Amino acid sequence: MLNRSWSDACAVVLVEDLSQQRLPARWMAAALRQAGLSARLVHCGSAADAGALPARLHALQPRLVVLSLLFGHLLDVYLGLAARLRSESGAWHLTLAGPLPALDPARFLTTCPALDSVVCGEPEAVLPRLAARLVDGADWRDVPGLAWRSPDVRVNPPPWPALDLDNLPEPVRDDGIPQFQGVGFATVEGSRVCYHRCSFCLPCAHHRDVVGAPYRLRSIPNLVDEMERLYARGVRLFLFDDEQFLPPQPLRAERVRGFADELRRRRMHIAFTIKCRADDVDADLLRRLQDVGLIRVYLGLESGCPETLERLHKGVTVTQNAAALATLDRLGLVADFRCLIFHPWSTLATVAREIDFLATVLPLVPTVVTYCETVCYAGTPMHAELVPAPANAAVNPTDGGVVYEIGDAAVEWLRCRARPVIAAQHAPQGSAARVTRAWYDLLLSQRFAPTPDNDRAALALRRRVLALNAAMLDVWRALLPGVGG
Ligand code: SF4
Repeated sequence: MLNRSWSDACAVVLVEDLSQQRLPARWMAAALRQAGLSARLVHCGSAADAGALPARLHALQPRLVVLSLLFGHLLDVYLGLAARLRSESGAWHLTLAGPLPALDPARFLTTCPALDSVVCGEPEAVLPRLAARLVDGADWRDVPGLAWRSPDVRVNPPPWPALDLDNLPEPVRDDGIPQFQGVGFATVEGSRVCYHRCSFCLPCAHHRDVVGAPYRLRSIPNLVDEMERLYARGVRLFLFDDEQFLPPQPLRAERVRGFADELRRRRMHIAFTIKCRADDVDADLLRRLQDVGLIRVYLGLESGCPETLERLHKGVTVTQNAAALATLDRLGLVADFRCLIFHPWSTLATVAREIDFLATVLPLVPTVVTYCETVCYAGTPMHAELVPAPANAAVNPTDGGVVYEIGDAAVEWLRCRARPVIAAQHAPQGSAARVTRAWYDLLLSQRFAPTPDNDRAALALRRRVLALNAAMLDVWRALLPGVGG
């Protein structure tokens, strides 16, 4: 730990959309504090938030401002904020962190002169070094894992070895424990990186190709220690943000058993959600997790079309996807998933196959199926596969992906026509969000304060969702004449 004193009111300010309850800035702040540097989290989730930030930062006078970009849709807001912060003061170092800039730092440093650097390596390893240099007035340009201008963009090799997750301090939660329907909830992470290679996946491309860090797990005692401390602060709902909650074989059964045993031993009565792939849905393992509080599974299903699964390098089959939904339905676990209905190689036939697949599995689906365009991020394998490769293609300010046209003109036309439908579905008060909230209400009640009405309410909700999903399929059929049904 550094033992330093300086006059700054706060050495580092980390800007992130804190309302998302994600962990990146929270991990970064924890690592900075562990290194003896003062660090403060500041929320920015909209242009209005960004407008109020310069005055706040002037009051704090940090040496380093970290803009932690969670999602592409805030790209314009964060780059606009960087420009404004630069024009108002030259005193602070402005850096941008997140998988999107880390995979394509040259683009960001070239198009946004306000930025001094981009964090490419694991931020918890990069930022304490960078902040310490800045506070000491020392040269920062050789900090490992940093991209900077010289005037050409240079990317320093990442810090090595990769971080041991058990040595990381717990994420900072200065803003308290958020509540949903009177239940405290928190996002947690038991592992980092994914061991699969889907071609569109931004976080995995970032870790694999830029950070160079392997898949890592926290030990069960280390993970459950943090959960227990959060439990003492009132958290009962844990949202696991691991790309894959289940580790690869042969670790899987042992990990699940150890986790469940530890929760039982500590008498923690909790609810939790996980993310996993269709080919990881194993009834025995999920039942064991369900016994200790698993209520909901975010399933990386993506598609019910064999050509699309192949194109996206998902490594699963349509049969496995359908079987996963059937297993989750049988277990009574609520499954959420999305359908990547459009991608650069979509044809009318691939779209029709998605609709056919969904029509088949709809009775097994308890939540609103959300339809998405596959975002193509620069630096991902999907981007490399685009022909012609749009090396200098514009970035879409609404999602941070490169702008592409679907090769099949009829599908491109369909994509444009479908956009308002998809946007309505994804709106904050859209059907998907309302059903998500309704399920959380019900599942938390079932877990913590069951009533005789729970089963009836669940059945009614499922019926409403079935009607909503069926109506959406009708919309697709109307948009796409000739689709069976
Ligand atoms: S399984 Fe999920 S997290 Fe892993 S590479 Fe594929 S999309 Fe990314």
